[in-house]
Amino acid sequence: MTSAADRLAHELLGRLGDKVVTSDRAALAPWLTDWRGRWTGEAAALVQPGSTEEVSTIVAAANEAGVPLVPQGGNTSMVGGATPPEEGGVLLLSLRRMNRIRSLDEHARVAVCESGVVLETLHEAATARGLRFPLTLGSKGSATIGGLVSTNAGGTQVLRFGTMRGLVAGLEAVLPDGSVHDGLSGLKKDNRGFSLDQLLIGAEGTLGVVTAARLKLAVQPADHATALCGLEDPAAALALLQRLEGETDQVEGFELIPHDSLEAGLRHLSMKAPLARAHGHYVLIEATGNGDEPSATLLERLLGEALADGLIADATVAATEAKSAALWRLRDGLSDAEKQVYGLATQHDISVPVEAMPAFLEEVEDKVEARWPGVDVSGYGHLGDGNIHLHVRAMTRGSDDWREGEGVEIERFVHDLVVAHGGSISAEHGIGQMKRDELARLGEPARLHAMRAIKAALDPNGIMNPGKLVP
Ligand SMILES: Cc1cc2nc3c(=O)[nH]c(=O)nc-3n(C[C@H](O)[C@H](O)[C@H](O)COP(=O)(O)OP(=O)(O)OC[C@H]3O[C@@H](n4cnc5c(N)ncnc54)[C@H](O)[C@@H]3O)c2cc1C
Repeated sequence: MTSAADRLAHELLGRLGDKVVTSDRAALAPWLTDWRGRWTGEAAALVQPGSTEEVSTIVAAANEAGVPLVPQGGNTSMVGGATPPEEGGVLLLSLRRMNRIRSLDEHARVAVCESGVVLETLHEAATARGLRFPLTLGSKGSATIGGLVSTNAGGTQVLRFGTMRGLVAGLEAVLPDGSVHDGLSGLKKDNRGFSLDQLLIGAEGTLGVVTAARLKLAVQPADHATALCGLEDPAAALALLQRLEGETDQVEGFELIPHDSLEAGLRHLSMKAPLARAHGHYVLIEATGNGDEPSATLLERLLGEALADGLIADATVAATEAKSAALWRLRDGLSDAEKQVYGLATQHDISVPVEAMPAFLEEVEDKVEARWPGVDVSGYGHLGDGNIHLHVRAMTRGSDDWREGEGVEIERFVHDLVVAHGGSISAEHGIGQMKRDELARLGEPARLHAMRAIKAALDPNGIMNPGKLVP
């Protein structure tokens, strides 16, 4: 029996052609499983519009037919946000063909990018014009502007320029009834009430389809420098962060790496240890120069003082571009390295107030390891933003279904501690399908009520990415 989704796919094929609509299983298959390989779904067809007008036609028809759409960009979601439901009955709406940089204005320092532009492509285009887009992350070779906007992505340089929310100067989007919101005009001031742009940022495709974004660019720094410091614990790392922030506004990245994560990364990449001896923790620091003092000199001076004061035990400032890139490769590869070296783990993308992080890490490690003997708790990531990727490694307790069984109890336990410390159960990866139940359990009632009301008002037929984010 043909389903409503099959009928809609057939109708759209007739209207838009086979460049846009395909039900070919081989074309669909790579996009039905998430990047981590944790969720696999079904879809009646892959729909790949090439213009905003085509997106509008597709969304309007889906709304009329009551057939859900699952928007997808680079499919790098860490929370199953872009994976269709197991039961299918949906169309997978890929924005990857909308990959034009419509304009890049170096005087206004803005770029208007279609949703399917890959982050690295924007980086290269901005660099070629003497500018930069100051947000980067490990998935930059695949993640798209539409996905980054829709997850309010963060990454390793949030400290100075903020998340996507701070870098978007306007959006173009197709709302669930097929109407087009055009917010690309670039108004710096606009007080006509609710901001549709801000509502769509971080909405994970549940309120509409982002088709283009007007993005703020920054001037290229005079230079940049990368350092790796060895120190005792997260408390020392926090003290170093606060000292650096008191001295300069040129630190852009501040990443905490525990010893065992660094070891995994070095093994994974067959790299030599960057420091002469091992330390409990490490901090990877990125600084940019403003023309007054080279950033390498700045870091050498400030880290030299920290060393003299006993705040850190050792430090190296990368002497060449290749060494700097290698340190960042090490950092960006930690997720893969941990998986390969330590195996099964529950992974928690959480945030707490920056100052609360050392106490939180100590408490979560003590309590989880005491309650589940044999597991290993370890956290690395964006300490400068109060955002750590906390892994509870199964180690001796691991088995195939561990993550679904005991792992779920551990996840809930960790989230309870996060909330007790005033934190968030999703710092930057979003809620997707992975954390929806936990958001329902732990979200504040006022926030949940508002989210449900907005979803019902804008998408009364529930066609936009059902089963994700909004509980
Ligand atoms: C190695 C690696 C490292 C990562 N590091 C980070 C990190 O440091 N910081 C961070 O924040 N994230 C990180 N991520 C997660 C991921 O890269 C981001 O969430 C990214 O923003 C997703 O972009 P995407 O194009 O792949 O979106 P997808 O995964 O395709 O989609 C993500 C969500 O956005 C929706 N969506 C996609 N495009 C649109 C659109 N045009 N309109 C409406 N909704 C849309 C989808 O439905 C889904 O809900 C990492 C992922 C990997 C694999």
